[in-house]
Amino acid sequence: MPEEKLLCKGLVDRIGEEDALIDYQNKQDQKNFKEVAEIKDHEFALKKVIQLIEDEEIGVIHNANEIELIGHRIVHGGTYFSNPRLLSDEVLSKIEEVTPLAPLHNPHNLKGVQVTQTLFPNARQVGVFDTAFHQSIPEKAYRYAIPKDLADDNGIRVYGFHGTSHRYIANQTAEFLDKPIQETSLISLHLGNGCSMAAVKNGQCIDTSMGFSPLDGLVMGSRSGDIDPAIVVFLQDKLKMTSAEIDQLLNKKSGLIGLCGTNDLREIISMAEGGDSNAELALDIYCYRIQKYIGAYLAVTGPLDAIVFTAGVGENSSLIRAKCLTGLEHLGISFDSDQNELASGTKASFQVKNSKVKLLVLPTDEELAIAKASYRVANE
Ligand code: AMP
Repeated sequence: MPEEKLLCKGLVDRIGEEDALIDYQNKQDQKNFKEVAEIKDHEFALKKVIQLIEDEEIGVIHNANEIELIGHRIVHGGTYFSNPRLLSDEVLSKIEEVTPLAPLHNPHNLKGVQVTQTLFPNARQVGVFDTAFHQSIPEKAYRYAIPKDLADDNGIRVYGFHGTSHRYIANQTAEFLDKPIQETSLISLHLGNGCSMAAVKNGQCIDTSMGFSPLDGLVMGSRSGDIDPAIVVFLQDKLKMTSAEIDQLLNKKSGLIGLCGTNDLREIISMAEGGDSNAELALDIYCYRIQKYIGAYLAVTGPLDAIVFTAGVGENSSLIRAKCLTGLEHLGISFDSDQNELASGTKASFQVKNSKVKLLVLPTDEELAIAKASYRVANE
């Protein structure tokens, strides 16, 4: 930084398991390393990372002490953080305090911070919160219509997630359209394995589809998205399901997996092309939900500059983009089929000339967004 030159990238997946995956790519001379091995905890994982980045053959630095700054993705910042922060003891205790709101994420994020503090003693640490971009959502949009005291006492409200990606996409859109971010309004569609949308008015997020948890909103790879809450009570009463079973059902066994057996949209598309009616219906439901949210957000953003598609599905699937946008011509939204085909995997617009709203594909890059935010905070 600040040149944003990528030296290496990688992933340690399934920490705590015997078949964890270590994937490392040296981006300077394209030397890669892949291994499936037991990684017992975060400390072990990061020691492995240090070995790789210092390695004489495939490494990119001589000594891990050269690293001056570490940016952490922190899933939940509660209502405390609307911007990235240096991870002081005070900030860390706030992250700890909101752990009950993200029991599956924040403890691991904190563990990562704790380990990097020991292993990289010269580095400053910055937290970039997935919830932060959504802190500008007005109360009429973030409050659920349940008793106010109950909601306030327990922190039950819309928080929204994927904020680092939506903020990055908002800034990228402003740059692409050559407009100041304060004058740019868009609907951002982050369609990956997790899916969410954000309504952004004049650079500020005013609504988002994920809510109290990442389970709400769009149909996702394995999450249901919106359902009537009475279904949960019904499952408890009628089928005697426990809260853990319902949690598992809605987070891991629903969405596209629940509808047609797989969460990989490439596979679903080819199943549908082969005449599989469950796959066809899954695609219909997935895109119909997105269309409903586009309609809702068009109503609240006012004049819109762009609808922007990003993440694995949004960036790569012209079919999904077309299915989400077909029939919206009466709203001033018309796409060009050829441009849509060409837009996959690039940074491009694909609306027809007289479309009132621009239609864009912009690749998201959460790691770069975290690196930029961390660099900015450390130099303030
Ligand atoms: P992400 O979570 O952003 O890595 O996105 C993962 C999702 O992107 C998976 O469900 C993939 O099936 C999907 N994906 C990647 N490439 C394509 C493609 N060409 N067409 C449809 N879906 C894709």
